[in-house]
This record gives sequence, C-alpha cells and structure tokens, in this order.
Amino acid sequence: MNVADSELIDGILQKEGYKQTQNIEEANAIFINTCAVRDHAEAKVHSRLGYYNRIKKSHPEVIIGMLGCMAQNLKDEILENKPYVDIVLGPDSYRKLPVILKNRLKDQKHIVDTQLSRFEVYDGLFPSRKEGINAWVSIMRGCDKFCTFCIVPFTRGRERSRSPKSIIQEVERAINDRFVEITLLGQNVNSYKYDNIDFTKLLQQISFIPGLLRLRYTSPHPSDVNEELLEVMAGSKNICNSIHFPLQAGSDRILKRMNRTYTKNHFLEYAKKIRDIIPGVGISTDIIVGFPGETEEDFQETLEVMDTVKFDSAYTFKYSSRPYTKAIEYDDHIDEDVKKDRLDRLIKLQQKHTLLCNREMIDKVVDVLVEKESKKSDEFWSGRTDSNKWVIFKKESAKIKDIIPVRITAAHGVSLKGQTEGIKNEIN
Ligand code: SAH
Ligand code: SF4
Repeated sequence: MNVADSELIDGILQKEGYKQTQNIEEANAIFINTCAVRDHAEAKVHSRLGYYNRIKKSHPEVIIGMLGCMAQNLKDEILENKPYVDIVLGPDSYRKLPVILKNRLKDQKHIVDTQLSRFEVYDGLFPSRKEGINAWVSIMRGCDKFCTFCIVPFTRGRERSRSPKSIIQEVERAINDRFVEITLLGQNVNSYKYDNIDFTKLLQQISFIPGLLRLRYTSPHPSDVNEELLEVMAGSKNICNSIHFPLQAGSDRILKRMNRTYTKNHFLEYAKKIRDIIPGVGISTDIIVGFPGETEEDFQETLEVMDTVKFDSAYTFKYSSRPYTKAIEYDDHIDEDVKKDRLDRLIKLQQKHTLLCNREMIDKVVDVLVEKESKKSDEFWSGRTDSNKWVIFKKESAKIKDIIPVRITAAHGVSLKGQTEGIKNEIN
C-alpha cells in the first residue's frame, strides 16, 4: 500500500516538474511516507525523522514533509515536538502537495492537512513507477470494517472504490510500460463495489486485458470471499492461484471481540473450498497473538486452525494497542512475555507448515516468472510460482519476464530450488 502511495506522490510531483534525487544531501525537499498499522513501524519513522533533522541542520532551507497514515494519527505530537517537520499531510491530501510546496516556499508557516475524504480515489493521476515486473494498482481506499484492533478506518477513512474505467486505463498503461504482473490493492480489496461491478467482475475484466501475464490482489477479507470469486480465479489462466486469507485468530470468542465478522467454522469451510476449487493454490495469512483477553485455550485454537489449513506462509504479529481503536479500552491486556512466547510457538509451527507445503512441490513442474538474478549467484535466476513461492534455478536460456516451466528439485525453508524445462511465455 505504501509503495503504491509513494509512487502516486512521486507521479504528482513529477507532473509539476520536480525530480527525484538518489542523494539525500542534494534534496530540496524530503518526504517520508508512513504507515500507522503497528507501533513498530512508528518507532522507525521517529528515528528516520531524527536523521532528516540532522540534514536540515546543515541545509536549513530543506523542506521536510511527513505524509500518510502516521501524519493523520500523530499530527499534534509532531507539531509540538518536531518543529523541523514543515509539512504534515494525511493520505487523502496528496493532490494538494504541489500547491502546498509553493506556499511553503513563500511562507515559513507549518502546513498541516489531514482532512479525510469520502471521495478521493486519485482518479486521473498516474503513479510514477520504476521499471520492473509488478505494478501495484490501487482499486479502493479506506475501510468500513472496524476490526477492534485496527487503526486503518481512522487513519485512512471510509471505504470508497475507484471507477473500473480508470483502473483499466492504469493497468493498460502499466502493460504499455512493460510491466507483466499487476497486483490490485485495497485495505479490503474484495469489498470493491462500483455501480453494479463487484470485485469478482472487476478481476475478470482486468484478466482479459491483452499482455497481462499475471494478476494478483491483496488484501481480501475472509467474509467477502465467495465461491464465484474462487471459480473465476480457477478458470482464468493469468489470475494467480494464490490467495491471502487472513485468519487473525482461531477462537470464536476472540474473533468476535476483534469484530472480524466470521467464525472459525466459516474460515475453515472457505479454506477448504479454496484448496478444492483452485488447484495448486498457495494460501498465506495474517495472525495476531496476545489480543486482549486471549487465553492459552484461545491460542491453542489458533494453532489448531493452522494445523488444519496448513498455510503456505504467514505474517505473524504480537498485538499492539493502537489509538482510537476499541480494543485499547479492554481491561484484560496480555503480558508482553506471554505474547512473545505465543509468537515464538506460532512461528515455529508455521515454519513446519511452510516446509511441508514446499516439500509437496518436489518433482512437480510449475510455471515460474523469471524476476531477477538470484542474490546467491549470478548463474541463477530467481522467480515466483503462480502460487507465490520463490524458486531459484540455473539461468540457461531464459530471460527476465519469461514464464518458464520449472521442475522443483528441493525445498529449504521458504525458498525452492528447481531445474528449467524449456520456455513457454503465454499472453492471453
Ligand atoms: N485489511 C487487512 C489487514 C490490513 S493491516 C485484513 O483485514 O486482513 C495488516 C495486518 O496487520 C492485519 O492483518 C493484522 O494482522 C496486523 N495488525 C493490524 N493492527 C494490528 C495491531 N493493533 N496489532 C498487531 N497487529 C495488527
Ligand atoms: Fe483493518 Fe483490515 Fe479490519 Fe479493515 S478489515 S479494520 S483494514 S484489519
């Protein structure tokens, strides 16, 4: 999400004639784009701003701007404690950046704009992307789900969807710029709705765009995953057989307290449908441990769901209290050492499952998109399977952006090793 927003901001500034510099000491303006979802990310931003302050001490004319969710969340604290930050802009105010920059050059006052909008989807603006394989395309913004742990509805505002026309234009432009993979983005991507077009229809329409080799999306909400979506994924050559299916917790009591709107049984039923309907699918998830009131029994239920589903990979987090959220008011917060212990056990189990899922791929031939040279050796390529697993294999005749059949020969932790079996590029 943040990469996409940074590319959007870059696009807005480039349109006005501003250029990026690789050397921070040369910059006339420095912007930091921030995320407030977890407190860990916030700590990093504070230390980064300290570094920019040191730069400003030797170049007092440089303008420092803090953009995005954290700006929204922490504007008062920043204005009070970090007076060297000149501009604070929330995630719905990026369009105003060029005017704000001009005003700031005329006047030394701080400029703050964190107003959230019910409508801003940045239609008609094109992100500035570095050359590459994958282009992120934002299709909706905000979220109305109000999970009790999550700050997103407060920092990014109400849910709103972009018109299919402008999304398709952006995808076509990205393909024209030689991107071969598109990832559709949204905080709650599958609650997309624009007139009578829902997420499944949009996904299918985009998959028909000529030249698109791979189509992915993130992050869906389990309550909005339906069979029709899974059938469309299974029936399309270029929609990848990979799905992010965020569990968060395994016990119904905790799911209810989290306001996740699905039960453990619903989650398990759909996880099974995903595996049954989409052959060779890769399922990733997000899990939070130590949510207020989580008992050892509740945590055991999370481990049980993991054992049943056997996720291919998982992003795992210790619960952290976020401002404005309902969960911050609960009076049964969990000790840090208990959270840490649960996280360690959860990670160990996930490592076991990842290895298990990867070992099942040994001897299978899968399509791999060649993405880059392997960090380990310049004789090897590194690429992803449709199901979103990294594979390393000898270069031979393939080149970057080819899709080639690769026989998996070994599985170590998260990555696979393979051997090429000829070249096969497919454009629908
Ligand atoms: N819209 C996505 C999640 C976006 S936030 C969804 O509904 O799944 C990304 C992830 O950060 C969440 O899935 C959650 O696992 C984690 N997260 C969000 N708030 C958190 C908090 N307060 N503490 C710990 N993890 C959190
Ligand atoms: Fe946050 Fe996702 Fe829940 Fe929305 S659906 S409130 S973004 S966790």
